[in-house]
Amino acid sequence: MRTIAASGGGATIALMAVGRSHPGKVRPQNEDSYLIRPVPHGVLVAVADGIGGGPGGLDASTLALRTLDQALTAAITDVGRLADAVAQANRLVFQQGQKRKDLEGMGTTLTAGVVLGDRLFLAHVGDSRAYRVTPHGLEQLTDDHSMAAEMERFGTLSAKEVERHPQRHVLTRAIGPYNEVRIDVQDRAWGQGERLLLCSDGLSNVLADAQIWEIVEHLHGQAVVDRLIQAALEGGGVDNVTVVLVEVEPRVGS
Ligand code: MG
Repeated sequence: MRTIAASGGGATIALMAVGRSHPGKVRPQNEDSYLIRPVPHGVLVAVADGIGGGPGGLDASTLALRTLDQALTAAITDVGRLADAVAQANRLVFQQGQKRKDLEGMGTTLTAGVVLGDRLFLAHVGDSRAYRVTPHGLEQLTDDHSMAAEMERFGTLSAKEVERHPQRHVLTRAIGPYNEVRIDVQDRAWGQGERLLLCSDGLSNVLADAQIWEIVEHLHGQAVVDRLIQAALEGGGVDNVTVVLVEVEPRVGS
């Protein structure tokens, strides 16, 4: 758990970021990684889900997050800085995959957010997700870059058909397989009653948005993360599952 001072609307607030990753009940190793780090005036968080199942998955997710960690040391004043760091992560993972035969084609998803006092920057590639949680509900901020989700967006598949589609997990974009990658970015206003939830598909493939909401609605902090992971495990735990949450720390004694 990390507490980070941030300034929003002229006042100083304390942001709290918590995260946890679990290998699940089936996979031999955990290829998911997450990052929580204070940055000037806020917090940097990210989730990466290594792909391929081979040795490259864990290497890719670890290297991508290490690159973000090292690239973003100064104040992050615009979303372009975050996007540049994600592009750099892509180049480094790609180069690593070129260098070593056993890591060829290594890749990872990468969903990264910078929460400042009153702004949220997001950069996203793959099918890990960012959700905005308000007192009234849950909103998925990111598009899944998977075959099935792309088909749903183009209207060729219904949401119901997507759930059963054999290629629903095939990614259309990832960090690492190619020298260049298209990165979705967002620069949004951030309200102090809002929370940011990042997760790998080990959560979102098991729990529908309504089930995630039922858990986050009544809990705060580490309890949200632990309960979501527990629910994913109860749902079979077929994949690695990672959850990161950012929220304003409740004031003690006021
Ligand atoms: Mg996964």
